[in-house]
Amino acid sequence: MKVIDRIADLRVALDAPRAKGATVGLVPTMGAFHEGHRSLMRMARANHDVVVVTLFVNPLQFNVGADLDRYPRDLAADAAVARAEGVDFLFAPSVGEMYPQAVVTTVHVDALSAGLCGTARPGHFDGVATVVTKLFSIAGACTAYFGRKDAQQLAVVRRMAADLNLPVTVVGCPLVREADGLAMSSRNVHLSEEERRCATVLFRALREAATAVTTAGERDAGRLRELVVTTIGAAPTVRLDYAEIVDAHTITPVEALAGDVLIAVAAFVGETRLIDNVTLSIEPESHEARADLGVVAESFHIGS
Ligand code: AMP
Repeated sequence: MKVIDRIADLRVALDAPRAKGATVGLVPTMGAFHEGHRSLMRMARANHDVVVVTLFVNPLQFNVGADLDRYPRDLAADAAVARAEGVDFLFAPSVGEMYPQAVVTTVHVDALSAGLCGTARPGHFDGVATVVTKLFSIAGACTAYFGRKDAQQLAVVRRMAADLNLPVTVVGCPLVREADGLAMSSRNVHLSEEERRCATVLFRALREAATAVTTAGERDAGRLRELVVTTIGAAPTVRLDYAEIVDAHTITPVEALAGDVLIAVAAFVGETRLIDNVTLSIEPESHEARADLGVVAESFHIGS
């Protein structure tokens, strides 16, 4: 595996094999690799001749300076993980390489960026859309893998790539959880032992709501939301930021469940902000519901 920190070098490294017909799999990340990241690398490795992982803690998408400052960083450890997953190139540019001048050109994906984390973190998705556009432009024609852990981000990036005719196929991959259901996140390292225990309430609340939909036939978004709010509200040290039920593709609120719907939550556990979600799919003909809660690290399926 080669670590590359220059944009020009990455272009050459990918253009040469692509000119000979090789396909490229791209995995954009901010590092501090865990099983969620590894699952994306494996997916890319299984499907492409050349795999590139990008590692860049993008200042543009942090609206709280302290969050950026304390974001975990360990290039050597991440390089070892990427190498073990058979990655060909780890692109880890500096902030100066990515943003050599004051940023005056940004990408804004309207509507999809407005709700959920867009409300809680103003400007966040402009930062994401801008850096992902740059990464797609640098990488060139490829297939890019994103986790459904960040379901709104996936919807934003997918729409952006389509609207801007970028030569990139965006693929969504399963949300990976710890054995007790906590969604894997680079931010979990900030949790104290007690906070770590309390944090599982997000998964429990989502699973409870998913069961209400799949087994009890609940289709009312208001009642489902209440269920989630009540369960999370009862947990110590957890402060709910939002719990919303939205269309999974447009990220707009729904009243009655139909098609692909997302129950998305964000909460502060102590000082650490965590997000989680479940995707519910209601069959248009039979009205039967399926829930996708993701997988645990050992690949045990926990959807229903
Ligand atoms: P990050 O480094 O947090 O920006 O995440 C990089 C990529 O990994 C994004 O596409 C995330 O959605 C994905 N990712 C992060 N955590 C998980 C997880 N627990 N399961 C699946 N994908 C994840």
